[in-house]
Amino acid sequence: MSTFKAPKGTYDLLPPDSEEFLAVREALSAPLRRAGYGYVETPGFEDVELFARGVGESTDIVTKEMYTLTTKGGSRLALRPEGTASVLRAALEANLHRAGNLPVKLWYSGSYYRYERPQKGRYRHFSQIGAEAIGAEDPALDAELIVLAVDAHRALGLREVRLLLNSLGDRTCRPVYRERLQEFLRGLDLDEETRRRAEINPLRVLDDKRPAVRAQLADAPLLRDHLCEPCRGYHARVRDLLDAAGVAYEDDPALVRGLDYYTRTTFEFVHDGLGAQAAIGGGGRYDGLSEMIGGPALPSVGWALGVDRTVLALRAEEVAPAVPAATDVYAVPLGEQASAALFGLVTELRRSGVAADLAYGGKGLKNAMKSAGRSGARWAVIAGERDLAEGVVQLKDLTTGKQEAMDPREVGAEVLKRLETAVPMSSTVPER
Ligand code: AMP
Repeated sequence: MSTFKAPKGTYDLLPPDSEEFLAVREALSAPLRRAGYGYVETPGFEDVELFARGVGESTDIVTKEMYTLTTKGGSRLALRPEGTASVLRAALEANLHRAGNLPVKLWYSGSYYRYERPQKGRYRHFSQIGAEAIGAEDPALDAELIVLAVDAHRALGLREVRLLLNSLGDRTCRPVYRERLQEFLRGLDLDEETRRRAEINPLRVLDDKRPAVRAQLADAPLLRDHLCEPCRGYHARVRDLLDAAGVAYEDDPALVRGLDYYTRTTFEFVHDGLGAQAAIGGGGRYDGLSEMIGGPALPSVGWALGVDRTVLALRAEEVAPAVPAATDVYAVPLGEQASAALFGLVTELRRSGVAADLAYGGKGLKNAMKSAGRSGARWAVIAGERDLAEGVVQLKDLTTGKQEAMDPREVGAEVLKRLETAVPMSSTVPER
């Protein structure tokens, strides 16, 4: 035990759980790669203003949750709390939108930081897979992104994800609605902070989870009833495309999400097995964001899926993603000479694509066989001085216990042949 611990609200990813995380990242991003999205990576920190302007001055993310720092040179930076503003900044900086091939489709994977009150499913350091389609206004693009996320959840084997859908209108109809809503909110019995929020960003009051506030919001005017004709038509087309793709959704007129840049299509994926932190992903259209950060008009749409919570959702459903075997063959050398010979054999096996490991540190047979068992390997290759003198090694099937002497040069081909015909081992979900 060291004197140090992982900082509050963070946790370390360790084997074997870390394999599950890798499998989830892979599954969430695979549909994007098949749909023309290119990988983008941006720095872990950015100019603080990018998020202040992009995410919204009045949002919790910017006012309470950003990790900010001032460099020795006096620059004000923030650890990134989300991905969209950075990705759009990077696309604009590299003029990707000028290449004449809109939309620019990008996906990313990385760590994000929010100074939140930690609880199960809510961390100060968490991981997202995200996707952005920049520079096109087309309901098919909104639908495409939603379908790709749904397909990722299905591929993982998740069955209990619900998709909540809403439209937040645009710069024509939202201001009119905003005023209506503000008038309504002014008539309610709200605490000081909520009143202030109602003046700055009234839509976010609709997202208040407290029962006392919720009860008063029952008769609140809904944006759904105030959408302008183009927004209404756009939303209907997104819904038609989702219907045609066999994607079920629930209309949630109160869905506003915690970021200010959303317009029109807004959606969230929730999982009922997760308690309070039920959102496993979300996104929407952000037609005004590019201009907010100094770029040209570039209507765009995107989403971010939470890797940590997707893993928790899998556990809640007791579904284990398929993870490749960490070790197929475990080599057990008995003596120094055997150690050198099996080191060579393990190197060859790895080079031919077999996952192989070796008992290090001069372990005795009993101890080494225990390690072989723990590694999850299907076969052990055992060799002592006598085997080497006879030019063989022992290939032991750890499931059946059957052992056979074999020319070491034939082990690779034999294992590959058996791996091809073998039934995959069932993996279990580790308890948390
Ligand atoms: P957001 O950027 O807030 O829309 O978040 C997108 C997704 O990231 C959410 O649906 C969560 O799955 C995940 N997420 C956001 N904040 C956290 C957090 N503090 N801890 C773990 N996951 C998070």
